[in-house]
Amino acid sequence: VWSLSVWLTLRVSVRLMQTQSSRKSRAVRDTLRHVKVKESRRQGELHGPSTVYVQVLGAGSRDNGASLYVFSEYNRYCKMFFFVCVLFVSRIKIARLDNIFLTRMSWETAGGLSGMILTLKDTGVPQCVLSGPPQLCINNTKITLIDCLFLFLSAAVRPYTEPQYKDDTMTVSQVPLFCDGNDLKHIRVTHFSSHIMIINVSFHLLRPYGAQNHIFCLMFPQLHSKKGNFMALKAKEMGLPVGTAAIGPIIEALKAGKTVTHEGKEIRPEELCTPADPGPVFLVVDCPSEDFIQPLCTNHVLQRYQTGGSEDSTALVVHMTPESVLDTDEYKSWMERFPSSTEHLVMNEQTFTPHNTRSHKLQTQLNLIHPEIFPPLKLYKTKEPPASLRVPNVRAECLMKFQLRPKLEWQRDAIPSCDSEEFVKEAAEVPKFLVEVEECRKFQAAKFPEIVFLGTGSSLPMKIRNVSGTLVNISSSQSLLLDCGEGTFGQLCRHYGDDVDEILSRLSTIFVSHLHADHHTGLIHLLLERERALNSLGKAFSPVYLIAPVQIMTWLNQYHDHCQQILSQINIIPSKFLCDGAEVPKVKTKSLIQAALKKNDLVKFQTCYVRHCKNAFACSLTHQSGWQLVFSGDTMPCDAVVNMGKNATLLIHEATLEDGMEEEACEKRHSTTSQAIGIGMKMNAEFIVLNHFSQRYAKIPLFSDDFNGKVGISFDHMRIRFGDFPMLPRLIRPLKALFAEEIEEMEERRERREMKKTAEPPSNGESGTSRQPDEMSKGAKREQDDLNQETAIKRLKTN
Ligand SMILES: [Zn+2]
Ligand SMILES: [Zn+2]
Repeated sequence: VWSLSVWLTLRVSVRLMQTQSSRKSRAVRDTLRHVKVKESRRQGELHGPSTVYVQVLGAGSRDNGASLYVFSEYNRYCKMFFFVCVLFVSRIKIARLDNIFLTRMSWETAGGLSGMILTLKDTGVPQCVLSGPPQLCINNTKITLIDCLFLFLSAAVRPYTEPQYKDDTMTVSQVPLFCDGNDLKHIRVTHFSSHIMIINVSFHLLRPYGAQNHIFCLMFPQLHSKKGNFMALKAKEMGLPVGTAAIGPIIEALKAGKTVTHEGKEIRPEELCTPADPGPVFLVVDCPSEDFIQPLCTNHVLQRYQTGGSEDSTALVVHMTPESVLDTDEYKSWMERFPSSTEHLVMNEQTFTPHNTRSHKLQTQLNLIHPEIFPPLKLYKTKEPPASLRVPNVRAECLMKFQLRPKLEWQRDAIPSCDSEEFVKEAAEVPKFLVEVEECRKFQAAKFPEIVFLGTGSSLPMKIRNVSGTLVNISSSQSLLLDCGEGTFGQLCRHYGDDVDEILSRLSTIFVSHLHADHHTGLIHLLLERERALNSLGKAFSPVYLIAPVQIMTWLNQYHDHCQQILSQINIIPSKFLCDGAEVPKVKTKSLIQAALKKNDLVKFQTCYVRHCKNAFACSLTHQSGWQLVFSGDTMPCDAVVNMGKNATLLIHEATLEDGMEEEACEKRHSTTSQAIGIGMKMNAEFIVLNHFSQRYAKIPLFSDDFNGKVGISFDHMRIRFGDFPMLPRLIRPLKALFAEEIEEMEERRERREMKKTAEPPSNGESGTSRQPDEMSKGAKREQDDLNQETAIKRLKTN
């Protein structure tokens, strides 16, 4: 048994505020008013939040793994519980998140943590505590796996040996599950050929522990039971001193279940209190493979929650379980043992709803401008048939809720609608848009090479722009990736849908420009998915050529040593050996370079140091047929890039900031739009495409006067061929029409900034850190976030 199945039984026994009895006692409200105010305040403290729900963040699809969020409103506080199983977690509002529960340790379940922890720090969450499987702490030392995986971002870990986690809303208990299984190599092969794969990544997590039996962990959150409500009216009738200070201790004692003697008369708690409510329980079951079925189905602790009618009966069971496991008789029978009142929620790849409707909306509208350059987004649909379950069940959809308090019910109002017709209609109503679209139709282009922009934003993944990742399809069977930020695999999935495996199987080479989180943290996930793809297509496995700063090995070695084998997935070619005039590498590296060139039909793959952080590189690819592609990575304007790319066919250059922000760009060692264009003109590139926009330009960057017939801007999921170059500048007019509002807003912001600059003495002109409150508009706020994020990312850097 390799993965850690964590079971979360949440007994949301959120004790309710006294709603019912306060309604009943309305008649005496006035006389009792001051008591009630005090009373309800104390009950707020005693009885916990009135609203608790479980919400689906990631429904479990291949591009958006299963993750749940528990919201509980506790008076003024919000407590949130989070089961991270997804990479895009940074897209969620997490300002009050204070606990993260992991069901297993794997890239799939924990890969989103680095982004999450960075974001939490930026939002000022004092400390978020992680609970989960034993592997969270390495050999019982203070060093945690999270430290290793995420380059020593500090996070507090609650060891699984601590029996319970308890707060005002609920109690979470952890119960380790044991299971046999030794030959990890064997397991890896069998499971990677099945549908379960990524989940099984966690198998390898146990490798260094050498345990004969691998440990699984069950987690049992239990919500506190709700004490009964005090019936004030009846108490008054019985002659109790309602309305005076003396009633306080009496109520307290009665609620605690004690018999009270008042003026010689014995009063039992059930006379004056409504019955206690144990509160709903819910279970989160993460059963990644068939090997877990037996330990799961025979677990005694769980059996207690299957008995109907008792106070422990379960309101909801969340099954993070693949169809192949659901479809076994043993699992089905186990499901049937729950009372009929128990709701079942299934979260796995058998889900077909998009989770990022904003991205779908944008692409649908851009598709109107050019259907080839902006192809419609796709959904990956699993080929696995749905299990025929014998109990009623609900399939997860993004943002769907199950409310536990005040009333047990499904809530679908937060599920985003994704109505393409509506999106088209909305765009068609934009003034001048369709006219501009008509103007730029009918251009034909040769099919290859083809560039697919997967992430065109900087810093942190946002709904509309993911972080760096650009796919170069050299031919119908050769692909290469330039940078691999967090979420790159998800973007591939949404771009290619069911063909994603095919594309992954063609991918032979990955270039990572530098080791900032927005350029490399998607790598491990991508490598694992590539292995899955090769397996499921029955193709022979071969490692990718990884052209990157050699320091990336620190990170990969850590992951390999403590989590799972990953080194067999790559052949490293240190970027420095590809610089002009570099020292001659060892024979092995030399032959890898030759092999990588041959694999991609390239005659040259060159790199050069750029002006960004230490060990940051740009690269240039020259194809046999003559075309040359240059990619800048992150950099200030850099002459080495110009020299490397003389007369290139295409330059992809970062343009993080708009014109007029040169000072800030310099400080952060990035380029502005015009600086990027300037490099392309100096290089005499045939065409320039800009990317890596600051996330303040969520939809569209601000255009500068330097835009000309050789310049285009990139969007996520934009696909261009070299024959499209003449077309790209023409797209700008319809784009400007579509985004007229956003552009206007950004221009106003720029004007305000410029006015301030002229008003301030130059010594005070330090931009970026001393933003005035009046500039804190929506965009400027995001900009501030960017800055914070940038600092955080610096911390993340490997040395
Ligand atoms: Zn970057
Ligand atoms: Zn960078």
